[in-house]
Amino acid sequence: MSNLDSVTNLKASHTCLTYDKYVIISSVTVCGVDCSLSNPLEKNNMPKIYLIDVTNRDGVQTAKLGLSKLEKTLINIYLNEMGVFQSEFGFPTTRHETLYLQANLELAEMGVLKPIRLEGWIRAIVSDVETAFKLVPNIRHLNLSISISDQMLKGKFQGRKKRDDLISDMVAAVDTARALGAESIGVNAEDASRADLDFLIKFGLAAKEHGADRLRYCDTLGYDNPFSIYETTKALAENTAMPIEIHCHGDLGMAVANSIAGAKGTIDGGQDVYINTTVNGIGERAGNADLVAVILAITKSKGFTSKYQLGNPIDLRKSAKIAEFASYAFGVDIPINQPGVGANAFAHSSGIHADGVLKDPGNYELYGFKELGRGKPKFVETGREIIAGQYSGISGFSHIMGKMDVEFADRETASEILELARYANVESQKPLVEDELIFIAKYPKIAKKLLTMTPLA
Ligand SMILES: [Zn+2]
Repeated sequence: MSNLDSVTNLKASHTCLTYDKYVIISSVTVCGVDCSLSNPLEKNNMPKIYLIDVTNRDGVQTAKLGLSKLEKTLINIYLNEMGVFQSEFGFPTTRHETLYLQANLELAEMGVLKPIRLEGWIRAIVSDVETAFKLVPNIRHLNLSISISDQMLKGKFQGRKKRDDLISDMVAAVDTARALGAESIGVNAEDASRADLDFLIKFGLAAKEHGADRLRYCDTLGYDNPFSIYETTKALAENTAMPIEIHCHGDLGMAVANSIAGAKGTIDGGQDVYINTTVNGIGERAGNADLVAVILAITKSKGFTSKYQLGNPIDLRKSAKIAEFASYAFGVDIPINQPGVGANAFAHSSGIHADGVLKDPGNYELYGFKELGRGKPKFVETGREIIAGQYSGISGFSHIMGKMDVEFADRETASEILELARYANVESQKPLVEDELIFIAKYPKIAKKLLTMTPLA
């Protein structure tokens, strides 16, 4: 038996981790303001808003950026802690993702990634569906993507496909996914905002007829505005009578506003809506709708939440942690003026504002910093530092882990965990954060899987 099975004395005292339990915040009050995102008002019978975060798909597709498999796993864990409904956790047909995807599905089976739903993104073609189930046999949730606008038919498919071919490709993929065991299927209409609405409805109805659960309306180029997306999503919801996903990009600076307007359109059309987000808005080109900003917009904007509500509770207090981790992992600073989590989100300097906020924070703040999980003291080492890296030795590593209350059964176990930490550092090329080290110590077999890659096997 490997010593990876026998890590001991991993004390539960470390406050950053709640891997073992899912905490639902039903109603928490901080500073006199309701800080949970369960609606403070009575639940209504309207359709609801759910969040699907696509950081581990759209986010990592972003030019010049990327995440290690361990970093992607921590993003899934933080999203789960926050209460996000679903994570689009990767690419089931991409070989270097296979063990990462399998390892995360194992974490789901272990109850670590629960209740979050893990869904893979592939092209809506039969061969991709077959490859996905071959490489990741226990995948159960899929998003099947196909370009749908005439621009793409002409410019991308170069006339090789017609509108009807798109539908026949898509339904064949949906049928195959169902036959191979998919429990939920979203159909991803890429470039939907530039597509013909009647065709989009026809496409959605065909998907529904073949058992798809949702239609993803992709504003792939960020072309919509809140008024146009409202009308389109309302028409889609009314005419397809299926839940709609809203996938917005920020090329015109409206990703969050469009997401909210699309949610309103879908709900007014009588259907549940699933907003796609990414942490810190990281995504292709100008990015996607930012997770925290979307939650704030739903719950704090003028009058919205009286009618349009989240379908499950979200723990907004995890915002600062997930935003800071994503910033570190991507190597992209959080803009100083980022809603909720930016350095200036609660900073006041001018006389009138400072005086006003000191008298009553509600004078110049829409929500309190504690609601975002801010305000805790941070410990920054200003003296000697021992850091875990790819060339670390056992003495320094034991010192680091000891500071986090992690002790090992014996030296051999410590050496094995150290070896995993070295490999994790080789992959990420930056010092591992505490939660990464603790994850490796707590789930060494899973960590080993995340760190294993065999190209051209
Ligand atoms: Zn996108």
